[in-house]
Amino acid sequence: MAFAGSHILSVDQFELEDIERLFDVADLMLPYARRERTTRVLEGAVLGNLFFEPSTRSRLSFGAAFNRLGGYVRETTGFAFSSMAKGESIYDTSRVVAGYMDILVVRHPDEGAVQEFAAATHVPVINGGDGPGEHPTQALLDLYTLCRELGLRPGGLGGMHIAVVGDLKYGRTVHSLTKLLALEERLTFNCVAPAELQLPDSLVRHLRARGHEVILTEDLAEGISDVDVVYATRVQEERFPEGIDVSARKEQFRIDAELYDKVCRPGTVLMHPLPRDSRGGTSELADSLNTRGELAIFRQTDNGIPVRMALFALVLDVADQVTATDRAATWFTPRRFGVLDTRDILS
Ligand code: ASP
Repeated sequence: MAFAGSHILSVDQFELEDIERLFDVADLMLPYARRERTTRVLEGAVLGNLFFEPSTRSRLSFGAAFNRLGGYVRETTGFAFSSMAKGESIYDTSRVVAGYMDILVVRHPDEGAVQEFAAATHVPVINGGDGPGEHPTQALLDLYTLCRELGLRPGGLGGMHIAVVGDLKYGRTVHSLTKLLALEERLTFNCVAPAELQLPDSLVRHLRARGHEVILTEDLAEGISDVDVVYATRVQEERFPEGIDVSARKEQFRIDAELYDKVCRPGTVLMHPLPRDSRGGTSELADSLNTRGELAIFRQTDNGIPVRMALFALVLDVADQVTATDRAATWFTPRRFGVLDTRDILS
């Protein structure tokens, strides 16, 4: 795929060679993401971060990634503070904002809405999550993390066994990640969810058609017992029809240190797109796992920076100029960001 000037709307746009290219550039970004060095390659460029749904990680990491390339960021959050609250259409909003910004990241609660933004402008638009549809950059950073955790390259994950757990129906990160993983050879997917929250049929068919084994189960212990990676997700309560009580569903798919030790193979990597839903005192991956080296969730969020930096650099066509303005960073940076981190940052 030609990255330069492209909209990034779906993982369907990516072939293995594109992912390899992106990950090579992401590796080059590590010294900047680690705050060891600085670059000004996007000095003067402006990112428009348009988030019409709640976000912490995606919004801040897109913004920080652009800043770490030397660019500026302008944002709008929620409908209430944008002219959409006055009835402005997506077409008009997109065209207006494109006159101000060099690139847009858009998150919207409706599936397909980000595509509508893209259709109204030639300024590149990146999908930051469209309702239950897709979250392509999350999938790219998930795959980058998975490769780094297992010491593998894209295209080299063949034979791997992965459990996706929780809300596989509304969880857009699972939709994007499984589609991206489908480019690999002969994977086994354990899809662990209640029947009404299982992976959409179209995706199951897609994975099977590409030669992967797909096992659908409600049995959490069995589903996570013989796998290389567990990818847990939050019940996407905000996407449920009103009046449905999801609390029982939340409890059914929680993993804690006791269950992990009892049923998982030693070394099983634990991932989650976050946020963990900690209401009720526990979450999909309980705090008792926080000291485990296998818990990759914060390395995963850290990896959002180099991967999003790489995507910006490729889409704005400056990937080969990044080192031209390279300098050592001079301020204090801790060796580890989190007090319980068991490995070096972005290791
Ligand atoms: N942060 C992810 C998303 O925006 C996952 C989640 O919200 O559960 O899709």
